[in-house]
Amino acid sequence: MIGPCLLDKVNKDIRSRMMKKKIAVIGSGMAGLAAGWLCRKAGTDVTIFEAQSSRGMDFHTQFLDGNDGRSGHVDVPLRVMSPHAWPTVLKLCDILDVKTFEVDTPVACSWLPQGTWFRSIKFQFGSREIPWAPLRYLIRPETYRMLSGFLQIYRAHPKSLDSDLTLEEFRKQYRVDPIFWKGLLYPLLTTICTCDEKTIDQWPAGQILDLLQKIVFGSRLRRLQGGTKALAEKLGTDLTWKSGIRVEELSEKSSGTFLRSQNNEFGPFDYVICAVQANHLNFLPEQYHRERKILDAFPYDSGTLWVHRDERFMPENRKDWSPLHYQVKKDFSQSMFSVWVNPIEPTIATHAPVFQTWNPIFEPEAEKTLSAVPMERAVVTRENQKLLSELDLLHQGPLRKVFFCGSYAASGVPLLESAVRSAIKVVGYLGYDPLNQKIVDDVPSQDSNSETSLAA
Ligand SMILES: Cc1cc2nc3c(=O)[nH]c(=O)nc-3n(C[C@H](O)[C@H](O)[C@H](O)COP(=O)(O)OP(=O)(O)OC[C@H]3O[C@@H](n4cnc5c(N)ncnc54)[C@H](O)[C@@H]3O)c2cc1C
Repeated sequence: MIGPCLLDKVNKDIRSRMMKKKIAVIGSGMAGLAAGWLCRKAGTDVTIFEAQSSRGMDFHTQFLDGNDGRSGHVDVPLRVMSPHAWPTVLKLCDILDVKTFEVDTPVACSWLPQGTWFRSIKFQFGSREIPWAPLRYLIRPETYRMLSGFLQIYRAHPKSLDSDLTLEEFRKQYRVDPIFWKGLLYPLLTTICTCDEKTIDQWPAGQILDLLQKIVFGSRLRRLQGGTKALAEKLGTDLTWKSGIRVEELSEKSSGTFLRSQNNEFGPFDYVICAVQANHLNFLPEQYHRERKILDAFPYDSGTLWVHRDERFMPENRKDWSPLHYQVKKDFSQSMFSVWVNPIEPTIATHAPVFQTWNPIFEPEAEKTLSAVPMERAVVTRENQKLLSELDLLHQGPLRKVFFCGSYAASGVPLLESAVRSAIKVVGYLGYDPLNQKIVDDVPSQDSNSETSLAA
């Protein structure tokens, strides 16, 4: 057994070895910021390159009364976390002293153009919170079908499902009631995963049901106090920033790795961590064809997130307004989901209502629109696990200088959590785990649990 003194000495040695390293991180979303912060904590010199004019993670935050950071703000997109499914991000918040708070997120469901037919509340059942409906909705048959749909999800055993079983196969095999999956389950999932229903159909069922159980039946969801900005600011403090620099070329030379943007060259760097979307890696040179082949295969979906004040996206009756509102056509041909932000963002609690809608069926009125931001989101098919294994193998190659992380690069639904886990893993490949103050002797195994040492 290694005694604490010896461990201290070895850690100091590693630290002094790391201190000499220069690391470039490309991209300042959650993965890039976490990787940069972890490398900085390990004592390296970190330069972070971001194509946007400021940090990528909170670039789209909307300030409602000026831009001073103290005013009412809306995270775009709005991020929520469940303690069960986001343990690593929440642990990081603890370490950085970024406070989080619980929010209530009841759901209302309406037909389009109108008619609210379900509103959820939650009640405590032992250590679990169970979705339920207020009395006035209990007389409706749809409500019972919804509640029995929830029961079916509650009883599912996601971990025992065949890893190749898609959600489409699951709902057919388990005869999930159409009113539940079309009216609520799919809109909920297309919102959590920000993608269309066809994509959800192809998602591995076990993975998505596991997340759903944690969100729907777990403890209350949490949000970041001060918004995404609060966490991003803390992570980015000690890094050297190159904002507004889109990396266009990466080249490995004998003196190190260089990055080029327009006519400027940066480097040499000992290591480069690419924390951009897997489909944004066109700056990789020709000899990276293996990397490109794997990374290009990670699937993405895209859409537009509208931030607006158009009340047609809430139930007609103000009493039915809920932070989450699903609207679905009676023939189930189209649905959409809106978040009423004010009840879950204290800095705008007294402001006029603000909503976020992903890919609305009809556009919010122009004069009521605050912004419309095109976004891409990593999604998952049954191929992803194979791609992740191939990426792991690549990362373990000898003399590796360039690494890849992002929400797509860890198992599970691509979220802030997977972005952080992928960053921890990459920093582990560099030989250090600064949070556990523990030496990573071997590269982490492919078991997803090994990615989350921070959460342990
Ligand atoms: C509508 C919506 C709602 C969401 N809600 C939640 C939620 O509630 N909870 C949750 O956990 N997650 C949520 N997510 C997902 C989460 O936001 C993403 O998974 C996460 O932000 C991805 O982080 P990332 O660091 O992997 O990538 P990104 O955030 O995409 O960061 C990549 C960065 O790289 C920069 N970049 C790209 N190319 C270059 C280049 N060549 N040079 C320099 N910089 C470059 C980009 O500008 C960007 O800033 C949501 C996503 C969406 C779209």
